[in-house]
Amino acid sequence: MPTDNAWAEREQLLLAPYAMFSANSQGRERHEPPHPYRSPFQRDRDRILHSAAFRRLSGKMQVFTGDMGDYHRTRLTHTHEVASIARTMGRVLRLNEDLIEALALMHDIGHPPYGHCGEDILQRCLAEHGGFSHNAFALVLCRHLERRYTDYPGLNLTAEVLSGQAHRSDKDSSETPLLEVQVVDTADSFAYNAHDLDDALKLGLLDWKTIIELPVIRQLTERVWDGAWPTAEGDGEHAATARRALVHAVIDSQVADFVQQASTQLGQIAPADCTAARQAGLRLRASPEVRAQHEELSAFLFQNVYRHPRLVAIREQAGERLQQLFDSLAETPARLPKRFQQLLGEHAPEQAVGYYLAGMTDRFCDELYQRLIVQRQTVAPDWA
Ligand code: MG
Repeated sequence: MPTDNAWAEREQLLLAPYAMFSANSQGRERHEPPHPYRSPFQRDRDRILHSAAFRRLSGKMQVFTGDMGDYHRTRLTHTHEVASIARTMGRVLRLNEDLIEALALMHDIGHPPYGHCGEDILQRCLAEHGGFSHNAFALVLCRHLERRYTDYPGLNLTAEVLSGQAHRSDKDSSETPLLEVQVVDTADSFAYNAHDLDDALKLGLLDWKTIIELPVIRQLTERVWDGAWPTAEGDGEHAATARRALVHAVIDSQVADFVQQASTQLGQIAPADCTAARQAGLRLRASPEVRAQHEELSAFLFQNVYRHPRLVAIREQAGERLQQLFDSLAETPARLPKRFQQLLGEHAPEQAVGYYLAGMTDRFCDELYQRLIVQRQTVAPDWA
């Protein structure tokens, strides 16, 4: 059996001084003895990975719905891509990879059904009851709704994982988050820009003639194909290979630039520890050119993919279903599953209904709509 603090020794050997060391964690909401061979952040990562909310990410849409095909990302595969990119960046910068992985696996766990459309509907429904944000709901799930221990609700995660996630729901905060939190945020935006481009090309929502007009794409294709970019239309193997090469170039160019820039920043400031990095207000950033390219691609995807008529039509139908379910349950909250009725003492009925709906997969929500609205059944089943 390894020694009790082998993980702490390993971190001392591998991590940079400005990383968040597990041994310096502020601990959990409820005290637990240390694990013999897993660090606190490894345990958090495992708790999130084994949670029901994490598995449900496979049934939650990212941008494109399940009936549009089986190639594109779900929220689960998006999450794994974020974790992989963030760990790569964290390893180069000698940050705490276990903390990074825990934060990455948690980051989208609070997404309601139907992607950002579901979030918009719940936000509107709960406007007078504190609103709704998937980032904040991730904390509700991990602290209150997940059931893992007999003595108390939630996953009992460390303060660093909880505050890292809390930072996501309060982006305007003047407080500088841990470098590990910053790396996960950056990896998230790199991942979705690249894979949404890939998925939209595959689904035919974008074509090469259009994307090649974008300076960032032209520049990358020149790098990959030396100026002779392919006309990779359609569904053939040539198109698939070209698409993958382009997506690889989008991710690789951004990650390479980010780790280069971040290494330079860290070298110049040389924070003595993670607290010094935060006090210095250190924000790791890609170069101005790559940030501008990133913005350009984001704006392009927003205009041409997220607002594509095919997606808008799907979103409107899904939003209508969610709205009807919300109205129906908020009117008669006695139909809620027992667990959510128990929230009614402390929470407004609208909040309890919001939590119930937000925890569902797209399919569960579709089935509930059939049950409660179409067939007018009265019992709303629990998703736990
Ligand atoms: Mg994400």
